[in-house]
Amino acid sequence: SNISLFDLDRTAARSCVNGQWVESPNKKTFQNINPANNTVITEVADIPAEVVEEAIKAAENAFESFSESPVLERSLMLKTWAELVRKNCDDLSKVMTWENGKTLADSKQEIEFSASFLDWYAGEALRIHGDVTHSGVASNHRIFNVKQPIGVCGLITPWNFPAAMIARKAGAAIAAGCTAVIRAAEVTPLTAIGMIKLAQQAGIPKGVLNLILDSNAKVCGEVITNSPIVRKVSFTGSTNVGKQLMSQSSCTVKKMSLELGGNAPFIVFPDADLEKTIKSLMACKFNSNGQVCVCANRIYVHEDIYDTFANALADLVCEMKIGSGFDPEVKLGPLIAASGAEKVEEHVKDAVANGAKILTGGKRPEGFNECYYEPTVLVNVKEKCRLFREETFGPLAALIKFKDVDEVIKSANSSSVGLAGYVYTNDLNTMFRMAKGLEVGIVGANTEQVNDPFLDFGGIKESGYGKEGGMHGVDEFLIEKAISLQIF
Ligand code: ADP
Repeated sequence: SNISLFDLDRTAARSCVNGQWVESPNKKTFQNINPANNTVITEVADIPAEVVEEAIKAAENAFESFSESPVLERSLMLKTWAELVRKNCDDLSKVMTWENGKTLADSKQEIEFSASFLDWYAGEALRIHGDVTHSGVASNHRIFNVKQPIGVCGLITPWNFPAAMIARKAGAAIAAGCTAVIRAAEVTPLTAIGMIKLAQQAGIPKGVLNLILDSNAKVCGEVITNSPIVRKVSFTGSTNVGKQLMSQSSCTVKKMSLELGGNAPFIVFPDADLEKTIKSLMACKFNSNGQVCVCANRIYVHEDIYDTFANALADLVCEMKIGSGFDPEVKLGPLIAASGAEKVEEHVKDAVANGAKILTGGKRPEGFNECYYEPTVLVNVKEKCRLFREETFGPLAALIKFKDVDEVIKSANSSSVGLAGYVYTNDLNTMFRMAKGLEVGIVGANTEQVNDPFLDFGGIKESGYGKEGGMHGVDEFLIEKAISLQIF
C-alpha cells in the first residue's frame, strides 16, 4: 500500500493493548471492506472478551501515574497529537475514504476537525479548576470544590466520523487525566489505528489509550459496561444502542455521555437569503452522504417560497456526481453498507406512498453496487412519514411546507429526539422565538456550522445527554469533590 502510516500488507490490522499491537489469541479475523466496490481492504484481528478485560486492566494501571502527570505535559501531548494528525492528513484521509466511502474532501475536512478538537482540549486541560467558598454553617469553615479525573473510561465510537469521534472523546479524557479503552466501529478500524499510532508518536504513554477492534460490539459493550473498573462510558451512536448501554451501566452506576441519534429540523422562513440558505442546506444535508447525526432530516420551507426553494435545490442536487470517494469530481460516495442504502430507499418509498413527490433522484443509481443511492429531493412530505420518526442517515432531502411559527415549532418538536435544529430568517424576533422553542441541544441560526470545538455539543430528549467539546466537554471526564475544611 502507498499509505505509509499503515503497513496493511504485512499482517492483520491489530488492536492496541498497553502499547502493544496484539493478535487475536484464537487467530480469528474479520474483513474490512471498501463499500465503494465490496473489495477486502484488510483482515482485522478479532479481539475476544478476555482481551477487552486486559485492556481495561492496562488502562487501570496506566491511570495511577497518568492521573498524577503534570497538566502541562498532557496539554503538550495533545498539541503534538494535533500536529501529527495534521501532518498525516493525507494518509488518514485516504484510509478513511477507503473504508468509510466518504469523499476525500469530506475525509480531509474531518481530519482537520479532529485536530481542532485536540488543540481545543490542549487548552482546556490548563483550565480545569474548582472553586472555594465560605461555609453556610460556621465562619471558621471553608468549602473547596475540586475536580479530579474520573478514572478509566470506555469510549465507544461510530463509523461516520471515525477519526473525529476518537479525538473528541479521547482528547477530553486525556485533558482530564483519564485513561481509556476505545472501541472503534468494526467497519472503520484503520482510521482508528492511524489515530492511535499518532497518539503514541505524540508521547501519550502506553496503556493510556487502548484500542479494541472486534466484530462483536455487543460483547465488547457488555465487558466495558459490566466492569467496575470503568467509571465512565462515552458513546456516540444510535438511540437504541445508547438505551441498552445505559441500562447495562446501571449495575455499576457509571457516569455517561450519550450522543445519540438526531432528526434535525431545518426551517426556512420567507425572508431568509435563499441562495445562502440553499448552499448551507447542501452542506448540512450531503456532507458524508447524509450520514451525520446533526444533518437536516426534516426540511421545513415556508409556503411563500416553497416551490422556488424546492426547484432551486433540486437543480443543484441533480448535478451531484456519485462514485468513488477518491474521484475529485464526486460529491457522494457509497453509503457505509447496503443496509444504509436500503433505509433511504424505504424512507423514499414510504414518503411517496404517503403522497410525496420526487423532484430528483429517488432510486438506486445504475452501474453501482448496493451501497449507493441517488441524491434525492422530495416535496409534499407529510408528518405521518417514517422519516419524521427515524433519521434517514442518507442523501434524502425531504421538504415539508409550513405556514407559521407556532405550527412549525410544534411539528419540529414532535420528534422523540432533539440534537440539532436549524433556522434561517433575517428577523431577529422570529430567530429568538425559534431558538427558544425548539427542543434541541444545538441551534444553527442562519448556519449549518455546528461542528466546532468551541461549541458545547450535545442533545436533549432521546438524543442523550452530556456535552462534548466546548467549555463543559472536559467536565464529563471529571468528578467533583467537595472538601469542607475547619480552620482552628
Ligand atoms: P450506527 O447506526 O451509527 O451504526 P450503532 O449504535 O449501531 O449506530 O453503532 C454505533 C457504535 O456502537 C458502533 O461502533 C457499533 O459497533 C457499536 N455498537 C453497536 N451495538 C453495540 C452494543 N450492544 N454495545 C456496544 N456497542 C455497540
